[in-house]
Amino acid sequence: MANPNPEIKCTKIFINNEFVNAVSGKTFPTINPSTGKKICDVAEADKADVDLAVKAAKAAFDRKSAWRQMDASARGKLLIKLTELMERDLHYLASLESLDNGKPYASAVFDVHGSMNALRYYAGWADKISGETVPSDGPHLTYTRKEPVGVVGQIVPWNYPMLMLAWKWGPALAAGCTIVMKPAEQTPLTALYLCSLAKEAGFPAGVINMLPGYGPTAGNAISIHPDVRKVAFTGSVEVGKIIMAAAASTLKKVSLELGGKSPLVICEDVDVDEAAQIAYAGVFENMGQCCIAATRTFVQEGIYDAFVKKATELAKSRKVGNPFGQGVQHGPQIDETQFGKILGYIEKGKKEGASLEAGGIRVGAEGYFIEPTVFANVTDEMTIAKEEIFGPVQSIIKFKTLDEAIERANATTFGLAAGIVTKNLNNALTFSNAVEAGSVWVNTYLAVTNQAPFGGYKQSGIGREMGKEGIELYLETKTVCIKLPSKV
Ligand code: NAP
Ligand code: MG
Repeated sequence: MANPNPEIKCTKIFINNEFVNAVSGKTFPTINPSTGKKICDVAEADKADVDLAVKAAKAAFDRKSAWRQMDASARGKLLIKLTELMERDLHYLASLESLDNGKPYASAVFDVHGSMNALRYYAGWADKISGETVPSDGPHLTYTRKEPVGVVGQIVPWNYPMLMLAWKWGPALAAGCTIVMKPAEQTPLTALYLCSLAKEAGFPAGVINMLPGYGPTAGNAISIHPDVRKVAFTGSVEVGKIIMAAAASTLKKVSLELGGKSPLVICEDVDVDEAAQIAYAGVFENMGQCCIAATRTFVQEGIYDAFVKKATELAKSRKVGNPFGQGVQHGPQIDETQFGKILGYIEKGKKEGASLEAGGIRVGAEGYFIEPTVFANVTDEMTIAKEEIFGPVQSIIKFKTLDEAIERANATTFGLAAGIVTKNLNNALTFSNAVEAGSVWVNTYLAVTNQAPFGGYKQSGIGREMGKEGIELYLETKTVCIKLPSKV
């Protein structure tokens, strides 16, 4: 069951199936965002540790290694075994996540389930990755092989620490790659514990390595390392650009899942209460720290006022408090920096003329809690309508026609997700086809599923995770051509 004081079992760097101190001996604190106080110190990886981890991952990828000689089905079994251990420790993992990240306990439980499901999905892929025989010219047998890329670097953010890890471990391990990962400095604890479970499950030494530490040091060392053949990153657009530039020095493959400023268009033919509920869930989920958050709520003029009223009621009814508290739906923001940044955006919203309908202030005197915030009368030029806030702030924008809403929805450099709420099939299909976004939801929102690709148009990313396309990120294709005595 929920435990607000879980024992902290893993705080060191994980290399070659062992927990070790940093070469430098340095540590850094990880903070409880509900109190602002330190939970514990964690070993701080830097370049020297990354070098050791890559060396281990490279050895584990050697063609004679246990990992490379393992049947593909056995890789799938190891992933399943890992999920069984996660299930055994579900409440411990969820408690650790709530403590380190601040998300409500029920959401952390949901995340553990989501992570197990993502790993199970890719466990099934392990022995279903295949090339094809090709009807090539000439008397040749030509076929393709799908081979693992090799050592991969994976850099993940703090908003869904376990889920983002599972989205990256799953396809990489199913494909047969070996991993050097950096968790976000704010949330290293569940990633480290999952390494101990991976070892217990039986993954050979060096297949998974975990380097808690900072982006510009450990993260950069991964991005530039000559033996890392691919880097997969989830986080901000700004850091995505830095990683792509760093990866260019060794021409690594790069996949990027970046931010968004996603539009949700509410047409006036809908039930206002239902639409407001979809929009509310779409923006306040995970304290608004969600890359697909529906932060631009476009509402058609005929229902605008009624919608604002309902959205305000919903935001005000949201239960904010300690993540371990009974019935709490909304915990703190991740850290002081994000907390300050979000309050800064709220001030800008007020200053630039949006009308504050709910929230807008801190909750309590400790920790990083912000009241769910609703702005009405937001216009496209306002900062809160343009920049990714990554906090609990809903901007409600008025529109007249669907065509106009589509133009305005697309007038951004982002393109991660979008949604429309309407009873009109033509509206739904016109919008779904015209909007520039990697995921589009009709009459729902946040409906991410393991089986379908996920990723961004424009500056919201490169490549698609999840589904079949998610596996492709971790594969090379080799064409083999063998001379035959004759065509038949
Ligand atoms: P971030 O800086 O992009 O962090 C994501 C990851 O990248 C972290 O592990 C981070 O390390 C690492 N990193 C930072 N600089 C790096 C570098 N030079 N080389 C390699 N790795 C590097 O995100 P953030 O600062 O935590 O959050 C800032 C903004 O990012 C948010 O306001 C939000 O807009 C966006 N964000 C988006 C997502 C998403 O899912 N799309 C998730 C989180 C944040 P550190 O631990 O040192 O930061
Ligand atoms: Mg950061």
